[in-house]
Amino acid sequence: MSPNTAAPSSHSALVLDRDLRLHVDQVPDRPPGNGEVLVEVAWTGICGSDLHVVQTGDWVTSWPAILGHEVCGRVLDCPDAALPTGQPVVLDSRVPCGRCRGCERAANLCSELAWLGECRPGGYQQRVVVPVSSVVALPADLPLDVAVLAEPLAVAQHAVHRTVRAAASLRTGWGPELVEGPGNTPFDRLREHGTTSQTPPRCLILGGGPIGQLVALLMSDAGHPIRVVEPDPGRRRLAAALGATVSESIPAGASWPVVIDAAGYPRSLPDALAAVERGGIVTVVALAHHPVELTPADLVEHETIVIGSSGFDDELPIAVTTLTSDPSRFRPLITEALELPELPDRLQRWRQEPPTGKVVIRP
Ligand SMILES: [Zn+2]
Ligand SMILES: [Zn+2]
Repeated sequence: MSPNTAAPSSHSALVLDRDLRLHVDQVPDRPPGNGEVLVEVAWTGICGSDLHVVQTGDWVTSWPAILGHEVCGRVLDCPDAALPTGQPVVLDSRVPCGRCRGCERAANLCSELAWLGECRPGGYQQRVVVPVSSVVALPADLPLDVAVLAEPLAVAQHAVHRTVRAAASLRTGWGPELVEGPGNTPFDRLREHGTTSQTPPRCLILGGGPIGQLVALLMSDAGHPIRVVEPDPGRRRLAAALGATVSESIPAGASWPVVIDAAGYPRSLPDALAAVERGGIVTVVALAHHPVELTPADLVEHETIVIGSSGFDDELPIAVTTLTSDPSRFRPLITEALELPELPDRLQRWRQEPPTGKVVIRP
């Protein structure tokens, strides 16, 4: 008997209807085809963008939707045997078109970029079928309850990589040039080539949500003095426990060589531009959709480098390596673990009771 016929015929899923009704239901199992893999979901993280989709239906191209793009689990069935049964994996959330000019450079630059959970069923369910090319195998010594952070960590790591590459060129005496050598990250390469003789530049991070916390942790571990600005006291305590200096608002009269906007509140970009030193870097990773007013002369006269950072490029395997190196460093970032039926109510209360760290579900 093949694993397909042995599998139960349906499983639990949190389904979002086109009228934005969210309900737990049984959905039929779909056997994986060639080039696909059936994954038993262990943990799925809740992303802020999921909340946006639940409230608006934006970005969904396949209804009814099963959201969830921060997913880890174990292989249940892989017909062409590319992955052994039981193999722990994390899912690649990106679904690029593979044909456009952006895709020629990097999947996250795809002009048609879609995401797991929006263009195809995601991880708010017990079992999910994805292409074999969309999974990254996990080492046996990375606990799955920490591996669920791999996708958001890849997003944070991409923002940090883009920032550090630019910061190496700042006139701070730090990192006179980024020498590409062996190592997983620019930090490793810099360390191995001994170019971090000066203190890495100070960094101000706006926003202490999961991405802000992960960026703070990575920048802090790379030696950058970090300040996290976050109005929520619980999030400030978490950032402080991870090694950052924290404050409720941006300290008046101070400026930083590097500012990272992981907040996305209505004036966060103007605030970031006002807080950065002349010749400094502002990296924007928060996905905010409101227009803001800027004065171009300020950018010109201050020679500000503004960097956008979208999703991730080659950082998902790097994030897995980073998590595996010290899982206990990252576990405190997960502050709530829920069962699938608890999620609709938790999403309802999200704005009034913002979570301190990452919320995960065990479908
Ligand atoms: Zn996300
Ligand atoms: Zn494309």
